[in-house]
Amino acid sequence: MKQRLALLGATGSIGKSCLTVVRHHPERFELVALGALGSRPEELLAAAREFRPRELAVVEPAAAAALRPHLPAGTRLSVGEEALVELAVHPDVDRLVAAIVGAAGLRPVHAALSAGKAVALANKESLVVAGRLLTGIAAASGAEIVPIDSEHAALHQALRAGPRDEVERLVLTASGGPFLRRDRATFATIRREEALRHPTWSMGEKITIDSATLVNKGLELIEARWLFGVPAERIDVVVHPQSIVHSLVEWRDGSWLAQLAPNDMIFPIQYALAFPERWANRFPRLEPAELGRLDFLPLDRAAFPAVDLARQALAAGDSAPAVLNAANEIAVHAFLAGEIPFPAIVDTIGDVLAGHRAAPVDGLDEALGWDAWGRREAARMLAGG
Ligand code: NAD
Ligand code: MG
Repeated sequence: MKQRLALLGATGSIGKSCLTVVRHHPERFELVALGALGSRPEELLAAAREFRPRELAVVEPAAAAALRPHLPAGTRLSVGEEALVELAVHPDVDRLVAAIVGAAGLRPVHAALSAGKAVALANKESLVVAGRLLTGIAAASGAEIVPIDSEHAALHQALRAGPRDEVERLVLTASGGPFLRRDRATFATIRREEALRHPTWSMGEKITIDSATLVNKGLELIEARWLFGVPAERIDVVVHPQSIVHSLVEWRDGSWLAQLAPNDMIFPIQYALAFPERWANRFPRLEPAELGRLDFLPLDRAAFPAVDLARQALAAGDSAPAVLNAANEIAVHAFLAGEIPFPAIVDTIGDVLAGHRAAPVDGLDEALGWDAWGRREAARMLAGG
């Protein structure tokens, strides 16, 4: 039987890599639904023509108007945020591939898990905004969350070697981003183009900036805490500039298990879609002898305080990671628009968190409410309020 997928965020970096995996295994998948914001309608149309999904949805009405005259026969188009949520819970969908960027991905993930659907999760922000809520819902509905994020896919694989009470700690690897060796005193002069030039991964703009600030690693720490149920005190970060070892698990007997693969997201995407199986493929292979060396070094927490901020937010309580994420999204947007200097991204997160009193989050509306609060606060601070 073919696996029936809904892919949300189909035009993005992860979305396109997911289409590469689907294209590689035509006998295994049926792409039932494709969704995106709508900023690249021609790409969505090309995907619709190739994969002939029954359902297509975009958020932006202008994109829908551009698409409508060109739709392949048998593809229905719907419009609006709610339309994406409906694709996630479509009765003919077995699994949601959650590849929307940012907190905008939360509602479809929430809906899919509530409906008991399996989720292959790239959209880490949804677990950052509402980790306790979403994992609780998944546990109750029996829905499985398999991570696509490369570090978490690595941990997911390594953790299959033994029971959770034998785990000493999880260690997330971080490339260190483009400014690993840059003098901190010059961070204020970092230009947009420099921050967008990631040394080892080709990704969407938002996560590329998150990788330069190391906020991405903070988000991933929170993501790991909820995915694996391991407290933050047992999750560490090590800098590994080559991005070949995707993460490591230390066991209580002193053994370590790591996962290695080429730094291309097609590997963790295929893992997430194939789990609990492993499928053969003709993707490029890693040749250890050609790597020569792999380096590991400690994270410079003074230059990159984002991981510490994520720890503080997790310790403060449910709403604080949602607020951290919201402040980051606003600040990254402002940096990309040329409105604020690079260090202001992490400064804004710190300032917004400092003014936040954390509260429990028991429902979707509360999570979205804290997301909105964090956005407002960040925007107010950046406007000098
Ligand atoms: P991207 O910017 O390349 O693509 C984002 C996708 O989301 C696009 O299809 C866009 O249409 C859609 N989108 C954006 N805003 C939307 C909105 N408001 N409503 C609905 N759809 C919207 O991003 P990406 O790099 O592919 O990242 C996607 C997610 O995967 C992020 O959460 C990111 O952290 C995570 N991730 C990405 C990578 C990577 O290699 N790119 C690796 C690990 C995790
Ligand atoms: Mg990652």
